Amino acid sequence: MSTASTSPNHFVYDNHPVTDKDSPLEQTHRIQIAVPVPLRQIFDYLSPAPVAPGSRVLVPFGNKSNRSVVGVAISMPGPVKNIELKKIERVLDDVPVFTDSLIRLLLWATAYYHHPVGEVFQTAIPVKLRSAVVIDNPVREVCYRRVNHLSIANIDKLLARAPKQQQLFRLFNDTSEYSLVQLTDAMAADTSAGVHRVLKILLEKGLIESRERCALPREFPVINFGGRLTDEQRVAVDSVIESLGQYRSFVLHGITGSGKTEVYLHIAQKCLKTGHQVMVLIPEIALTPQLLERFRSRLGGGVTMIHSSMSPQQRYISWWRAREGTATVILGTRSAIFTPMKQPGLIIVDEEHDHSYKQQDGFRYHARDMAIKRASMENIPVLLGSATPSMESVNNVKTGKHRLLTLSRRTGRAMLPEIEWIDLQKHRQYEGLTPRLLEAIRTEINNGHQVILYINRRGFAAVAGCTHCEWKERCNRCDAYLTFHKKTNTLRCHHCGKVAHPKPRCPDCDHSLYYHGAGTQRLEEALKQQFPDTRIIRFDRDEITTRSKLESILSGIKQGDIDIIVGTQLISKGHDFPRVTLVGIVAPDQGLYSTDFRAPEYLFQQMVQVAGRAGRDQLPGKVIIQTSHPGNPYLQLALAHDYSGFYQICSEQRKAAGFPPFGYMTLWRAESAHPGAAIDFLQYISQIGQNIVKNRGYMEVEIMDPVSSPMEKLAGRYRAQLLVQSNQRKPLHNLLSLWLSEIETSPQTRKVRWSLDVDPMEMC
Ligand code: ADP
Ligand code: ZN
Ligand code: ZN
Repeated sequence: MSTASTSPNHFVYDNHPVTDKDSPLEQTHRIQIAVPVPLRQIFDYLSPAPVAPGSRVLVPFGNKSNRSVVGVAISMPGPVKNIELKKIERVLDDVPVFTDSLIRLLLWATAYYHHPVGEVFQTAIPVKLRSAVVIDNPVREVCYRRVNHLSIANIDKLLARAPKQQQLFRLFNDTSEYSLVQLTDAMAADTSAGVHRVLKILLEKGLIESRERCALPREFPVINFGGRLTDEQRVAVDSVIESLGQYRSFVLHGITGSGKTEVYLHIAQKCLKTGHQVMVLIPEIALTPQLLERFRSRLGGGVTMIHSSMSPQQRYISWWRAREGTATVILGTRSAIFTPMKQPGLIIVDEEHDHSYKQQDGFRYHARDMAIKRASMENIPVLLGSATPSMESVNNVKTGKHRLLTLSRRTGRAMLPEIEWIDLQKHRQYEGLTPRLLEAIRTEINNGHQVILYINRRGFAAVAGCTHCEWKERCNRCDAYLTFHKKTNTLRCHHCGKVAHPKPRCPDCDHSLYYHGAGTQRLEEALKQQFPDTRIIRFDRDEITTRSKLESILSGIKQGDIDIIVGTQLISKGHDFPRVTLVGIVAPDQGLYSTDFRAPEYLFQQMVQVAGRAGRDQLPGKVIIQTSHPGNPYLQLALAHDYSGFYQICSEQRKAAGFPPFGYMTLWRAESAHPGAAIDFLQYISQIGQNIVKNRGYMEVEIMDPVSSPMEKLAGRYRAQLLVQSNQRKPLHNLLSLWLSEIETSPQTRKVRWSLDVDPMEMC
């Protein structure tokens, strides 16, 4: 639709403003629209009336204009490309769906992540509103009240022979309105059908009247905190509360079980009292159903969830309530950062180091970084909490950008667990378990305690291979071995989902096959043989497939129906199991071989989280770790809970290499079904980048050579990547703008699938 320019801003500009003389229509308005197409520009349309920024509009798009799309009116500084202007077909919203600060946030993200503006806005619109529907209150409900001028005493008498009607009518003892749900609760009825029938009779008799209103969230009985904050908690709470009403950023570094959530609750409570809303981002809501309960029981029924396993309608309801302010606390995962708030007061990012905050496809934003930006735009504080803060956040503390709040001890009588190392070079194993670990498990079970065994692989065995030759069963679509799943007797690729049937013998030499390496299923089986009378469960993605399954397993653990839990990293996230006294780390070593420069940080975070599951209550905890690398510094530091030691060696290594947070990275990725096409494309990209660097003198920026991705083949496509690194952010971003505007219209870009990842979190 337009040609690209080489303006340093990647939106396409043009210096010929339209005058009324140019325009065939008098009194028309030029409206800038973010259209949901993968183009890095904004489009101009004509409208007979002004359109409020943030409103959705229906506009024609495409060469023949035979397609209508839903765009968002925004206003960008400066004139926009003037092509033959088309007319807006329809304005869809009376009240804009985006507030001014959200528009500013999304425009910032568009520029920062160098992503097509229309796709950025599209990501932020609730699914329900992505089509040309008119926005409408999704939570209407009928409510009832007494007809005012009637005498209550008389009616009460009148209804004496109809006890159900009388009982219900007595609830209308003031002039308030009550919904069917509230009345059903008040009648202590099991279902609302009966109540509804009686209401109809009262309506017919003209004793009550009804109308429609916007449904309020259900009320929830609030229980106050019974304990006393520790001194460290008090300092943290007071510091943030003092900053309410202005932008400040805090890192709350608190070891596992030190009472971070309690700190959030206290600050949120204060914020709600002043009539403001709180946004709480958490990594994976599906895994922590108790968290919602904990928040509701302290902060009331206004606590509202937003996450991706909710239906579009449920999400729309939460979005609506947040926007009108009846959702007082918005508890959500990554994309909840786009939720509008009527009275924003505070943003909390729990487990701020977690990778799930980074979107890994499409618009690759980082929700923690967006949260910091949003807080500054809304002029409210932001609190980043973690037991293992990211290198980025701690570096921001060191440079004075964030303020550090510390919780260094567990609350109450809970102590950090004792650690025991088992060197796998020196001890023999039975199906992945050493006699020493088995003995420790037996002791704890005999004492009526619970044990967690952590292994970072689901399935039965890692690899199916030949007992005689080198043959191993590989995925034909990925550079990966297939994992054997004994329960279903299948081989599965954990990368692309391919399912195959195990072969009876080696296809190369016809010898028998052997399964190497343990996964959760194998461990479970081995434990069942060792401890036939115990109750063992698996806690991994194969076992926990639904929310109800998760809840029943969690309650089984809580009630003591389970003795041993065999889990993947799923078990390490946020759960509180008071009766777990022993955590056995069966094989952490896979994490030691990754080529990703962040691997040591991930390993450290993972180990701290896993070890943190032991001894969270009155009972002392113990961690036993089996490893072939007992000297590994990251394992040592994690189990000693030595965060500053970790930060020091990790930062030395990264500084030396210019890696984040001491340098800035952007990764071009490309993939194609044709071998070599992705690398060729990146070669072309690299050449253009090198030319810009030479001509414009961006010497701070280093463009590496294109290489095959660490896992080159994935789901049948060949992948490659091109790393761009700089010790300064600005020249890198300027280069990216120029770079994209040069290549975007090139026919080369249509030959492969490509993307740009600013601040990549995974280098694969
Ligand atoms: P974290 O979020 O850091 O893992 P939590 O806030 O969940 O920690 O606290 C761990 C446990 O300690 C919870 O059971 C919590 O109710 C309790 N707790 C937190 N703060 C206090 C306190 N000041 N006094 C007593 N118990 C506390
Ligand atoms: Zn063989
Ligand atoms: Zn595969």
